[in-house]
Order: sequence, then C-alpha cells, then structure tokens
Amino acid sequence: DPQIKNSNVDVLIIGAGPAGVIAADWLARFTKYGVKTRVVDKRSHKVFTGQADGLNPRSIEMFQSFNIANKIVSEANPMNEVCFWAPNESHGGIERGRRIPDTIPGISRYVQSVLHQGRIERHILDDMNEKSNGTMKIERGVLPETLEVNEELCQDDNAYPVKVGIRQLSEEESRPKLGSKNGEVESGLYKSNLVKDEDDDVEFKPDVPVGDREIINAKYVIGADGAHSWVRRQLGFKMQGEGSDFVWGVVDGVPITNFPDIRCRAAIHSNAGSMMIIPREGSLVRLYIQLNLQVDEGGHVDRSLITPKMLMDQAKAVFHPYSIEIPDIMWYTGYQVGQRLTSEYAKNDRVFIAGDACHTHSPKAGQGMNASMADTYNLCWKIGHVLAGHAPRSILKTYESERRPFAEHLIMNDAQLAKLFSGKPLSSAELNELGVDMKDFENILERGISFFLGTSIEYFNSTATANGRDGRLSSKQELAKNIPVGQRFPSHQVVSQFDGRHYHLVDTMFADGQFTIVLFAGNMDKQVNRQRLQTIAQRLDSDDGVVSKYTPKDRQRDGVIDVKTVHCGGRTNIEVHEFPQPTIYPPGTYNKLYVDDVSYHAGHGEAYKNYDISKEDGAVVVVRPDHFVGLVTSLDGAGMDDVDKYFSGLLKTVPAEQRNSAKDIKVIPQP
Ligand code: FAD
Repeated sequence: DPQIKNSNVDVLIIGAGPAGVIAADWLARFTKYGVKTRVVDKRSHKVFTGQADGLNPRSIEMFQSFNIANKIVSEANPMNEVCFWAPNESHGGIERGRRIPDTIPGISRYVQSVLHQGRIERHILDDMNEKSNGTMKIERGVLPETLEVNEELCQDDNAYPVKVGIRQLSEEESRPKLGSKNGEVESGLYKSNLVKDEDDDVEFKPDVPVGDREIINAKYVIGADGAHSWVRRQLGFKMQGEGSDFVWGVVDGVPITNFPDIRCRAAIHSNAGSMMIIPREGSLVRLYIQLNLQVDEGGHVDRSLITPKMLMDQAKAVFHPYSIEIPDIMWYTGYQVGQRLTSEYAKNDRVFIAGDACHTHSPKAGQGMNASMADTYNLCWKIGHVLAGHAPRSILKTYESERRPFAEHLIMNDAQLAKLFSGKPLSSAELNELGVDMKDFENILERGISFFLGTSIEYFNSTATANGRDGRLSSKQELAKNIPVGQRFPSHQVVSQFDGRHYHLVDTMFADGQFTIVLFAGNMDKQVNRQRLQTIAQRLDSDDGVVSKYTPKDRQRDGVIDVKTVHCGGRTNIEVHEFPQPTIYPPGTYNKLYVDDVSYHAGHGEAYKNYDISKEDGAVVVVRPDHFVGLVTSLDGAGMDDVDKYFSGLLKTVPAEQRNSAKDIKVIPQP
C-alpha cells in the first residue's frame, strides 16, 4: 500500500522492559557512530509499581559500567542478611534457624539490593536519553503486527533484511490489562503514592495519529517483549521445559508485625507453606507466597481466587505464632510461571530474542530482571560494533553461545530451589525422599546464592573469551589467577599516577563500547621493567599494532581499543613523562596511567596481590566492552602476539591508509 509509510532503521527494539531498555541504553552509546535505533512498546506506560525488584551485585556492576549505579544504589535497599525459618515441632509454628550474609562478603563492591522495576527503568531511560543526545525515546502504544525476514539479504551488511509492520494504538488499546479488580486494591501497574515516579510517563502522547501504520525495514530486530513474546512466536521458536506453572502470590506494603526478621531476607518453611520476605526501599516489604495452585501450560489460574485477603490469610498461617497485618496493600499479584527455555535465540543473526522471551522461571531467586538485562547487555555492544563497521557479523554468534548456557544453568538452579520451596517440610524424625531436609534446603540455597549473585557467570563457549577450549586461543591464566578468563573483570583500587587520587579500576573504564587492554606493567622502580614497557609501547604505537589496525582514522584513538597501564613501583619514584608516548601516555590525557600504591585517603588497594599478579612478571589483560575478561597473557612479544590473535577474530582490520595512526599524535618532548 503506497499510503503506508516506509522507513529504515539500524535496530528496532520491540519491548521496553528491563531487557529492552538496557539494549536501548547500549545502542544509545553507538549513536555517535551513526547507529540509529528505535524502541517500540505496546503498552502506554512503563511499569509503575510491582513486578521485579531484585538486583544482584552483577547487575549493579553493570549499572556502574554505564555510570548510573550511584543513582540506583542511593534509592535501593541493600539486603544484608538471610534468615532461615523452619517449623517448630513443639508449638507448631516457626522458629529461626541459621543466619548468613545475603551477599558473599568481598565478592563485589555491591550487595544484593531491591528497588522496583519502574525506578530502575527510569534511570536507564534517562541515561539513554543523555547518551543519544536526546535522539532516542520509547514509542509507546505501538503494536508490531507483521515480521518478515528476507534470508537472501541476510549476508549483505548494508541490507535491511527484516520488515516489521507496526500500528499506533489508542490509549484504550494500549493500557495494560490489570487482571482482577475484585479486591480492594488494583492488581497491576498503577502509580502508587508510596513510590516516586515522574508525571510525564502518565500522559499518553503518541507522536502519530491513532491507527497509523508504518513498515520499518531494519538491519537488526531485538525481541525483548517478555514471556509471551510475539517476536518469538513469529520466528516459530518454542519454549521448552516444565509442563505446568507454579503460582505465586506477591504482596507489597508496609507490614505491622512482631516477626523479628521483617527487615531481613527471610526464607520461611512452615507447615502451612513457604514464603520469602524481601525488605524493600523505604519501609516497604514484599511477601512472596507460594500458593498451592498449579496450572497446566497454556492454562490460566482463575485470578478471581487471588485476592488480598486470600494472600494475607495464607501469610498469617505461615507466620504463626507471629502476627502480621498490612493495613495498606500497595500492590499485589498472582504471578504464574514455569521453568522454560526457548529453542533458539536468533534467526539468521538478524532477529534476536532476549530476557523473559528466552527464559522463564520462578521469582524465588529474584533473577527475572537480572537475567533479562544481562542478555541485552551481552548482545548490544556486539550489534553496535557490527553496525559501526568495527566488527564482523560473526561476532553475533557469541550471543547465543554465551547466554544460552547461562540460561540453562539458571533454570536448573531455579528448578531445584523451587522444588525445595514447594516441598512440604518434614519434622526431623520423618525425613523421607519426598520431603525436604532443612539442611539440604539451606545448602542448596547457599550454593545457589553464589550463582544468583551473578558475579561467577562464565562465558566459556565463545570466540570472545580466550580459554583454549575447542581449539580457541589460550590464555596464560597463571599470570593473573584472580582474573578468570570468561568471567567479569573484578575491580580493585588503584591510584592515579598524575594526582594520587584513588579509583576502583573499573571506574576508569566506563562502558562506551571500547575494549580495554590493561597493561599490568610490574615494578617500574626497575630499569628492566621500564625497558619492557618501552618495547610494548613500540608495538602499540606501530601502524600494525592493534590500536591502529582496528581503529579507523575518523574515530577517537581510544574509541575501539583503550590502553590503561597499572604499574606497581612507587608512585613518586617515576615521573609521568617517563611513560612512553603516545599510546600508553597520550599527551593531555590523564586517565590512562595508574599505580598500585597507597592513597592518601583510602589506604592501599593491593591490586597486584588481589589479582594474584607477580610484581616482576606483570600481565596483560583484555577486558571486553561488557567488562568480561577476554584474554590474560604475558607482558612480552608472545603476549602481544596473543593480543593480535584475540582481536583478529573479533574486529575488522582497517585498510592501511585509513588507520588511526599514532604518528598523527604530536608527542611532547621530555623536559
Ligand atoms: P518484560 O518486563 O515482560 O517486558 C516486556 C515489554 O515488552 C513490556 O514493556 C511489554 O509491554 C512489551 N511487549 C510485550 N509484548 C509486546 C508486543 N507484542 N509488542 C510490543 N511490545 C510488547 N520478577 C521477579 O523477580 N519478581 C516478581 O515479583 C515478579 N513479578 C512479576 C509480575 C508480573 C505481573 C510480571 C509480568 C512479571 C513479574 N516478574 C517478576 C518478572 C520480571 O518482571 C521479568 O522477569 C522481567 O521484567 C523481564 O524483563 P523483560 O524485559 O524480558 O520482559
């Protein structure tokens, strides 16, 4: 129909939940390279209250990489302690068992925290707006209706092989369905006066007239459209897993109770059923109540059964002998979910699905939002580099090869946890194979915690991590034992060579799309180590060195591969002009040189010791744009060969005459 508008876009994101907004925020960082992204969502408003709220330390580290962690942490409630409660055989109620820290101490700078999904999305969207210079926004009330992939065009980098037909909905059509309204409180997504939010999200202001249609031709499409993903269905991917769904009741409010652990995460196993208590921001508390309802896949629980009274009656029974009232229920829901995983993640590496569209599981371990954001955090720097012309399309294969094993692991852990939670507790006298031993329960939860914190996730099946498996490049892991290849780069404090200010090392490398080569240059008090750094510098400054070879002239020299140096001599034993220019010390740039030395105000970070790097040998570490470790190697010619090999599989070589050459940088003569 010639009347229908036709447009082109590099990336179309369908769905603006946690997975969609992280995708958008990443791609906003590539607008500087001309990458154009649109985001559509069928709902008229974002989530105001309810839904997911659990942030694991890894997600907060991810926010840190976007430089928005501080805002989110300042509003969130950190969870410090998990308390286990079990049946008491004498009074028939519950009693406290063990208490453990909620986050394994020392594992991250951040601890598990809770903040409602709407606030988190708000901060991410603000960042997207800023990073895209105000050019990106969410188009709400937009329904995709058709999706076609032209497979013949898929190998052509310049083609737009995916066609998506969209329609602008009316406010009526796009307002979220709120489910049953038969309680005193609406179960759904309405604004609450207990949680602050912005007014501009409330008004529905479509940019185009209601009913308008458009055909969008996209190079890439990301389906981040939730558990019932329309994109997934268009591609014919199947959700595989459990045949039935568990039903959870969730209640948010400020409880009045004599239960002593109401401000701790409490896992309660009682003769009346199981519950998890999540202490939230302000004085809010969330109760996760396991309901004795199970429905077949595709079936739906009768929502009229789930009322605030029914949920509170169940909570009271579990709490016995303690009392609990929530005078003002802020949000409640019946949340039905099974453990399932999609059959495929991508079609021709042109249409991808992410988040709940790929995997669903119980809310018990609070992973929904974390896992969903981590999917697109993994995917979108790759798409960004392909579109910017820096990386070949083959890099996109690593999305599924990295994220599917994680999802399998997640679902396995969750299934185990959910089974333990739904099992009827038995008295210590009558353990049998059907029941749940409290010890088992605590042990599995404790083991699960380390996985659920997100900091131990390992991408082992990928060309983007040099771990020597399946014929891939190997790392010299022994040179930095505590920087495991394939896992996220752990952070320790270092000090700026220039002014003695202390930094967490990852705070010097905010995610802007660049890879970072960290040269742990060793003890610069020794002449031989200074000489070694000079040799490395010659290689990095040459036109065949990785920085020049993969960075086009019209990019910032540190835009694709950044180089940071962390030495461990005395900070005051060396002058900055003794560091080699221009790649290692670009004149006029003060965020490249650091030292593992004592700071004036925050002690000694002991980075070399914590990373287990020898002060004599040093090491070279390649950190990916998502702060995962790609390669650990030696600080010598062989190590530099490894760095060459690592990038040769991931980035596109720039023709010699178009390279960003170190020769174009004017060095300052030594005094
Ligand atoms: P979603 O957050 O589902 O976002 C998908 C987005 O896509 C939505 O904005 C939706 O409007 C949009 N969309 C959907 N279909 C289309 C379409 N055809 N076209 C355009 N846009 C579309 N997790 C917990 O950990 N704890 C909880 O208590 C909890 N409660 C939940 C309660 C409810 C009612 C729901 C729905 C989910 C809950 N979750 C909970 C799960 C958690 O919210 C998800 O795991 C997380 O939000 C997944 O993020 P996502 O971006 O993949 O998908």
